[in-house]
Amino acid sequence: MQPFSSTRRFFLKRISRYGLSLALLAGAKPAFAKPKATLTGIRISQSADDHTRVVFDLSAGFEHRLFTLADPYRIVIDLKDTRKSDAIEVDTVSTNLVSGLRSASKNNGRLRVVLDLQAKVRPRSFELRPDGKSGHRLVVDLHATNLSPTPVKTNQRERKKAKKQFVIALDPGHGGRDPGAIGKRGTREKDIALAVARKMKTLINRTSGYRAVLTRDADRYITLRNRVKKARQAEADIFISLHADSFHKSHVKGASVYALSLRGASSEAARWIAKKENSSDLIGGISLDDKDDLIASVLLDLSQTATIQDSLELGSDVLSHLGKVSKLNNRKVQQAGFAVLKAPDMPSILIETAFLSNPSEEKKLRSSKHQQKLAKAVFSGIRKHLKNRQV
Ligand SMILES: [Zn+2]
Repeated sequence: MQPFSSTRRFFLKRISRYGLSLALLAGAKPAFAKPKATLTGIRISQSADDHTRVVFDLSAGFEHRLFTLADPYRIVIDLKDTRKSDAIEVDTVSTNLVSGLRSASKNNGRLRVVLDLQAKVRPRSFELRPDGKSGHRLVVDLHATNLSPTPVKTNQRERKKAKKQFVIALDPGHGGRDPGAIGKRGTREKDIALAVARKMKTLINRTSGYRAVLTRDADRYITLRNRVKKARQAEADIFISLHADSFHKSHVKGASVYALSLRGASSEAARWIAKKENSSDLIGGISLDDKDDLIASVLLDLSQTATIQDSLELGSDVLSHLGKVSKLNNRKVQQAGFAVLKAPDMPSILIETAFLSNPSEEKKLRSSKHQQKLAKAVFSGIRKHLKNRQV
């Protein structure tokens, strides 16, 4: 690591190039100033092969500077008068551009964060003031430069290849004290969801190159946030949340597939269902919206757009196979603000397999044979999607 003084000149040269904040040059702080801001979170997401976004959450206003170093390529971010919260945990960093992240407290209360890079990048950084639920943030956008898209793509393919298995997270909706919808015959959504998920798991694990993980494998309550966390810990490539619907009009029937929407629901019905599914977390007394540090911020709009696009394509492939084994309530993938679909880097869909409020569908959902058909159809849809994506 180069000492501060020698990098400072380097930084000054870079300022005009990248249009960075000049605020830090305006007046020197007294030596040994006490940290006034705390770095409370770091979020890293890849929105495209050649774009990575890193968001730093801070407890108060701050000043920053950023510069790049070569051999090996890295980015240094200095936060003035800032300390790092002990609670910060950064999951293993791995995007096409960033291979690692480390930090150290320097003299004069400065916090230095270093991003280790896989390739040369063009950085852009900007500070954001508190807005709604989000506090002070520093956003660092990294774009690949001097590098044809091909090596970057190869890099990603190689990492995928090294991983060998495609991991599918299966999320049986509800559970424990939250039964979900209940049919006239007493069929509980949580039991149907788990039964279909278990059947899917068996199918998937029998197929080479695939592995399934369940967010719950018992009748127990688990928060939406922890479902996503579990999937991420398993390094899941996609996330499939399984449900069964209900409606006050018992004639309504058919399966639906949902993806996340960042800008409102695609229909009134989609909004209604999202509200219902999201309310799971209120049962546990915790609202995902209040606690979510993973997402919930408009900042991640950009990074999520690519994932949502992928989710929509996955959803329509699943719908095409579901249509062979059941009636469809919607031929198109619906969108709404489902909390459980909000992982910024993992294509995620929510499937309402049928309506428990419809007597004939309730009967079907109870049948092990039909559950098996549903499991097969969803897995076939996933495989179709992956086949289409292969280059
Ligand atoms: Zn549900």
